Amino acid sequence: MNLVQLLCYLFVLLLFFYFIYKRQIKSLLLRNKKFACIRCGLCCESFYVELRESDIRRIEKKGYKRKDFVERKGKFLIIKQVNGRCPFLKVEKGYATCTIHDVWPKACECFPLTKVWGIKCMDSKCKSFDKKFLKG
Ligand code: SF4
Ligand code: SF4
Repeated sequence: MNLVQLLCYLFVLLLFFYFIYKRQIKSLLLRNKKFACIRCGLCCESFYVELRESDIRRIEKKGYKRKDFVERKGKFLIIKQVNGRCPFLKVEKGYATCTIHDVWPKACECFPLTKVWGIKCMDSKCKSFDKKFLKG
């Protein structure tokens, strides 16, 4: 195998790796970015929000019934989607608000902070990074 062939193979391999792990790679590239929520509400509409028992207890103390906001997804408990979105999401004048902000689940508090291959970074699915990332 000559050098050109080797470089071609490497290039194809890198391309393959990139397409499989595109989201993770983007998230790692965002690891030092400052985050400011633009209140688009995407994370409250499109993502599964995992719930811990402690999250559920906190929300129940506010008067909400478990059956109205908890759903099982495999071995996980998640926020039940109502009409395609989190039942605690309120959108007014184009801005998303969490109506249980004082007791919201740990997963919501942490987003978009995440870990990829054990490295702390920012989840590239968060809309606040879109423009910056695409321009960069
Ligand atoms: S996707 Fe990001 S910017 Fe949009 S509401 Fe969620 S955290 Fe905020
Ligand atoms: S609990 Fe609040 S922050 Fe979490 S998904 Fe629902 S509306 Fe969004």
